[in-house]
Amino acid sequence: MYHHIKKLMYTVRVDEPDPRFGNMLLEQFGGANGELAAAMQYSIQGLNCEDPARKDLLMDIGTEELSHLEIVGTLARMHLKPTKFNREQAEADPLIAIAGGGGVNLFNSQGNAWTADYLKITGELDVDLRSNIAAEARAKIVYERLINITDDPGIKEALGFLMTREIAHQKSFEKALYAIEDNFPPGKLPGIEKFASVYVNTSQGEGDTTGPWNSGEQWDRIDDLEQTMPIDGGDGIPSVTLDSADQAVATKMAKRTMSDPSGDPLTGADLGAGPGAGRTTNGDKGGAPDIESAPAMAEANAPA
Ligand code: MN
Ligand code: MN
Repeated sequence: MYHHIKKLMYTVRVDEPDPRFGNMLLEQFGGANGELAAAMQYSIQGLNCEDPARKDLLMDIGTEELSHLEIVGTLARMHLKPTKFNREQAEADPLIAIAGGGGVNLFNSQGNAWTADYLKITGELDVDLRSNIAAEARAKIVYERLINITDDPGIKEALGFLMTREIAHQKSFEKALYAIEDNFPPGKLPGIEKFASVYVNTSQGEGDTTGPWNSGEQWDRIDDLEQTMPIDGGDGIPSVTLDSADQAVATKMAKRTMSDPSGDPLTGADLGAGPGAGRTTNGDKGGAPDIESAPAMAEANAPA
């Protein structure tokens, strides 16, 4: 069950309302890396979790994120409330000012509605814990950027607390992941041995770099793509087995839509071609406009 205590998790103080900053704070309220997304992601992973120890962890952190949501919402509300009365301040967040009367709602800083699409829930703990580690890293960096652009000491302190809690959460999720042995690769199916240590250098040219991520004992590195692809030794041509009725339809369509490289049909582009059209089936209509005449043309086209 959930219950509510009528106190914030951390005492907050705003020296001077700053609607523009309040708008940016909404990233951590209704944004992709915000507190509601974190709370829902971990809590719903917790509902799906069969392992009692990690279920406990997910519910603890998920519930703490709701307490963070309460802090961020309270801070944003204090900053955005004046937008209701003041034209200049309303411009910082017209949606909150006009539709919301200065009250916060579940939007990000650009007014996009919060969506469950933000959540990463796969039902596989070793995958979900990695998503959570990444989510905490994103939350940390967003708080860091918010801290960097405010001078309000009270806000700095509150955001510093929230940022630090994300560091603590990242540590817990990392421990929970590494407490699963083995945890890599994720899931139950093993990888195919001969492809699991292959590095394919598909972006070639100046800037090619070698490092432990693509070279050395752990890697079979492929630089010569022409020689080695398709990597399975096959012909790389896709094929599908169809029953005879489907095959007949497919053959008929292939015949009807086949390109005829020997034809040179007259098209709309040919019929309408004028100067600048280049070569067409109807003949060359004078080629590109003379570069010297370009300023004159621009002048001719300019509104009177
Ligand atoms: Mn949080
Ligand atoms: Mn967190």
